[in-house]
Amino acid sequence: MIEAVEVKRWHGTTDNRVFGWHTMSVTDALRLQDETFRCPECLGRIKLRQASAEKELAAHGTHYSKNPGCSLGDCFDGEKRAHIKPVN
Ligand SMILES: [Zn+2]
Repeated sequence: MIEAVEVKRWHGTTDNRVFGWHTMSVTDALRLQDETFRCPECLGRIKLRQASAEKELAAHGTHYSKNPGCSLGDCFDGEKRAHIKPVN
């Protein structure tokens, strides 16, 4: 289950601003609008899912296109590989 994602944004202090990938929880990421999120492991693009009380599911992310080489995905085949279309 993907509980944290990476988002490209400004961070750091006023004097030392850096634009780059930043890891945040899916719960926090859901508060952002129109951002591109990627998987911290395989760097594939991630779609965010709201928590569902009905299904007793926490907020989480899923890959836009499945990556059998990512241990965070639901179709991991046991061998880690980068996503075929990584987000840079
Ligand atoms: Zn992944």
